[in-house]
This record gives sequence, structure tokens and C-alpha cells, in this order.
Amino acid sequence: MVMLIAGNWKMNGLAADAAEQVRALADGIGRAGGAELLICPPATLIPIMARALEEAGIRDRVALGGQDCHIAEKGAHTGDISAWMLKDIGCSHVIVGHSERRIDHGEDDDLIRAKAEAALEAGLVAIVCIGETEAQRQAEETELVLSHQLRGSMPSGATRENAVIAYEPVWAIGTGHTPTAEDVAHVHRHIRTVAEDFFPDDLRILYGGSVKPDNAGALLAVDGVDGALVGGASLKAEDFLAIAAAA
Ligand code: 13P
Repeated sequence: MVMLIAGNWKMNGLAADAAEQVRALADGIGRAGGAELLICPPATLIPIMARALEEAGIRDRVALGGQDCHIAEKGAHTGDISAWMLKDIGCSHVIVGHSERRIDHGEDDDLIRAKAEAALEAGLVAIVCIGETEAQRQAEETELVLSHQLRGSMPSGATRENAVIAYEPVWAIGTGHTPTAEDVAHVHRHIRTVAEDFFPDDLRILYGGSVKPDNAGALLAVDGVDGALVGGASLKAEDFLAIAAAA
């Protein structure tokens, strides 16, 4: 099965960085092997990246995605960007429900599901993020939290083609800590079992949280892991490609 290696640049990168990263990606693209590559830069950089990837001759190797979208197609929503707008500038994917949106912007499962459904309607693949906090993990509520988030935030009509689940334990994001391979296997099995209850397809499940070149091989080899959602290490093309090479 082809792995999806997705980079979430979060709120990082200026135009000059985008140009430099695309150059480095083009130079090293052969290292990525057969992995499917996706980069979700800040919205400001998407058209710049699309053009630069095109000029570098690797636009068909690197998909682009947004980091969030509004539930509506258009309207009076200052500062927001719709899924249709992302599609219009060359995106094929959008991340919804990242824990940083859930926490910083108070997004709940209902809103995230509506965003994911807007993404599907616009013709994008929705990458729906779920994950437990450190406190929830300590309280042994991980499975309960994930079941709840899955049931609440996955779009109706999700298929293998239009939706991806990203499991990102909040305590692993940007911390350098990762769950053990056994824990990742266990959690992905749980997620798959819950998802199977209400979706006919076997959905892809990515792992995210402190994925680096030196742990990517071990994490991606875990049974039930279909790829990675990479934050910090996706900002450097060499690291991103090294992770893809481990897939
Ligand atoms: P890090 O890889 O920096 O831990 O971030 C993970 C993440 O939040 C990706 O969406």
C-alpha cells in the first residue's frame, strides 16, 4: 500500500523559504521512493508553491493542501478561507480538526465534521485529525476520546478516496516524545475498528507527532500506519524526504 507522507508547515514560511524548499525537494525527489507526498503550507504560500513546483517539474509528485477551511463556500466570514477557494488555487487536500485548531480556536467535533463535509463537497480530500491530551492519556481515556472524536468529526460519506484519519496524540506534537510502536499499533487498531463500524471502506490512518528522520522508519513500519503527518521536520525538504524514504 502506498504511504502518504504529509507535511504540515503550520504558521511557518515566507515566499523565499517556499522557493528554497521547492528547489531542495526537486533536487532530492528521487529519495522519496514511491511515497505519496503532500505539503500543507500556510495559505499565503499555496499559489507560490504551486507555481514553483510546476516550474521545478515536480508538481505531479507533490500535492498541496490547506491547513483549515470554513464550512461555507463563500460569504461574510472575515479572515476565513473556504474549501472551494483552496481547490481553486490547486489544493487537493485540507487538514481539519488539528489539535491546534481545536485548542487555539475552540473548534469542536460538530464544526470539524461540517468543515470536513465542506471539503468533500468542494472535491478535496479531508484529513481529519484526532488525538488525546496528556491528561486524557494519564486518565486512561485515550480510546474513549478517540472514539468520540471519530464519531463526532468524521464526515458522512467518507471513503478511502476522499478522507484520511490522522492520529496525533497532543502530547507528542512538537515535544520530541512519541508513543511506543506497540501503543501506536494498539491505537491504530482501535481507530480502524471504530471507523469500520460506520464506513464501508478501509480508511487510511496517518500517525503524527514528533515524526523525524530518525524515528520515521520505526513508526511507519507499525502495523496499521498508512503514513505520517509531519510538523517541524517537514520544514526542511531533506528531513521531509528522509521521512518519505523511510516509508
Ligand atoms: P510535529 O511533527 O512538529 O510534532 O507536529 C506534528 C503535527 O502537529 C502535524 O500536524
